[in-house]
Amino acid sequence: MFFPSRQKKKYRGILLDTPRNNDGRCEQCGGVCCSSFTAIDISWDEYIRLEKLGAKRLQLSLFGPHKLEIDSGCEFFTEGRCCIYEERPDICRRFFCSET
Ligand code: SF4
Repeated sequence: MFFPSRQKKKYRGILLDTPRNNDGRCEQCGGVCCSSFTAIDISWDEYIRLEKLGAKRLQLSLFGPHKLEIDSGCEFFTEGRCCIYEERPDICRRFFCSET
């Protein structure tokens, strides 16, 4: 009897102190980090910027960081990459992951 493989690739990630840009990995992994969390923390300036870019899944908070919900995939991840790459939040710029 044939059972399809249920093994998923495993990744580990860290938040870097400084952003990384254009290192090519984002186009290779299919946006794992863009759908692996329920939400990401964003600043007020980022909240405003993302709202202007059409974000529909923003959470305004009076007591903690504002959020962009990304559970089941970030709304800005389209056609295999971040469609607001140059405008993406700081946390996206500093997140670094690799296959384990
Ligand atoms: S803003 Fe871009 S990099 Fe950040 S989670 Fe969404 S698609 Fe991914």
